[in-house]
Amino acid sequence: MGSPSIPPLARLARLLNPWGVHPEGRKQLTADTEIALVPLPDRLVLPLSQHIGAPARPIVEVGTRVLRNQLLAEAQGAISAPIHAPTSGIVVGIAEVPVPHPSGLPGPAILLEPDGADEALPAEHNDPFALSAAEISRRVAEAGIVGMGGATFPAAVKLSLGQKTAIPTLILNGGECEPYLTCDDRLMRDRANQVIDGARIILHAMGGREVLIGVENNKPEAIAALEAAAGAFPEVKVVAVPSRYPMGSEKQLIEWLTGREIPAGGRPADIGVMVQNVGTAAAIHRAIRFGEPLTRRIVTVSGGAVRTPRNVEVRIGTPLSALLAFCGGLKAEAVRYVMGGPMMGLAVQSLEIPVIKGSGGLLALVAGEVGSYGTEDTSAGPCIRCASCVGACPIGLMPLDMAALIKHGDLAASVDIGLKDCIGCGTCSYVCPSKIPLVHYFNHAKGELAAQDRNKMKQDAIKQLADARTARMEQEAREKAEAAARRKAEREKAKAEAAAKAAAKKAAAPAPASEESPA
Ligand code: SF4
Ligand code: SF4
Repeated sequence: MGSPSIPPLARLARLLNPWGVHPEGRKQLTADTEIALVPLPDRLVLPLSQHIGAPARPIVEVGTRVLRNQLLAEAQGAISAPIHAPTSGIVVGIAEVPVPHPSGLPGPAILLEPDGADEALPAEHNDPFALSAAEISRRVAEAGIVGMGGATFPAAVKLSLGQKTAIPTLILNGGECEPYLTCDDRLMRDRANQVIDGARIILHAMGGREVLIGVENNKPEAIAALEAAAGAFPEVKVVAVPSRYPMGSEKQLIEWLTGREIPAGGRPADIGVMVQNVGTAAAIHRAIRFGEPLTRRIVTVSGGAVRTPRNVEVRIGTPLSALLAFCGGLKAEAVRYVMGGPMMGLAVQSLEIPVIKGSGGLLALVAGEVGSYGTEDTSAGPCIRCASCVGACPIGLMPLDMAALIKHGDLAASVDIGLKDCIGCGTCSYVCPSKIPLVHYFNHAKGELAAQDRNKMKQDAIKQLADARTARMEQEAREKAEAAARRKAEREKAKAEAAAKAAAKKAAAPAPASEESPA
């Protein structure tokens, strides 16, 4: 096992720092089940927004027959990702349907009815190391690959940063610190070669020097599999990190592995680091070696209500109900469904919403499980100023003060003390003895700020349009006045010339003969 390139004392200091928590993992429910393939459902629902950034734009029409891996919707703008067909079939609709979104509002999606043939576009085979960095970025962008750890940031945007600035270190995130989730663990155990190959391709594309793969020390099988696959590549090191929540967050992993801190408001690239999830690396391996766009992913289906919890590989667009049915349905009443993990996941109201590129889990939780992760707004008491939330926050924020400011509607002041640095991990809520749903306040406030930003952008755009219209009208009025003045001047000039001509003509005319005889 490799060791992180940081001084031992710095590492010890971080070990002793009490940030984070140790929620009950409940990973044993699925960690030892092999990945099983979910059959094609009757209908796939492919939301146009499966990534951070502008939604993709459909380029197919209702009634079109498409093949697996065919482009259905193209990226719009720099931070966007295209959508491809996960199987062959007919596009039966492009409509607003329930999609995974914190607002719970419907969103636009392409509806695809599989024809069962699963006919694909011709496959490609490439040697990644014969391709240029720019070509790899282009292919990753075309394959629609986004961060598979849930952040859904288009992977190619990060890759292209490496071509503009020196980024020597690639960190692969194999943390998976959310309770219940084991999809990355299974991927690292079962497909370690794909992960290592993907990491080397990314390193080649970013012009980097070393890969550090951070894996929590409660996943010995994953560590062993990755080490075996990385054996021939000295630039790749597998590093065990402590299992505490939220070690899988980008900031914590970078600090642990490199000893460096991202400056407030900065990015990992500012300190020479790029972070990608292990699932993203495997997807890049498939995209570059075989020309496969991102159309499937591994999902953990778990929770006390699921009859047979397991990890499944599923086509993107498959409704959650089909995953649950594949896992034997329910054995007890589920009081809550969560997409993702219980700490940061999204509670969902309908099982007809589809798996998207960033979906790592579907949890069906029974009564005893809900609330045990600190994200429930039940029986909240008053703040007793115990400061437990302050000590546990991995970012070093003051959750109690931020929540108090948000409660009083002072969002600007909460931003001043760090709201935008909050990663929404829910650790503060988890440790709060008064069960105050702190992270709900922060997520709500961030939603408000985003809405305000969007509104401001809209207002700015409207103002710009109005200013441009006023300027255009003023310009037109000026031009009209100038033209009128010009015409008037021309008329007057013509009049003066005519008068002058007439006068000249008159002057030139011979004088009439006199009737009197000269003397
Ligand atoms: S304040 Fe934000 S970053 Fe800190 S523990 Fe709470 S949710 Fe996590
Ligand atoms: S943990 Fe809860 S009770 Fe304690 S200071 Fe923070 S908000 Fe208040």
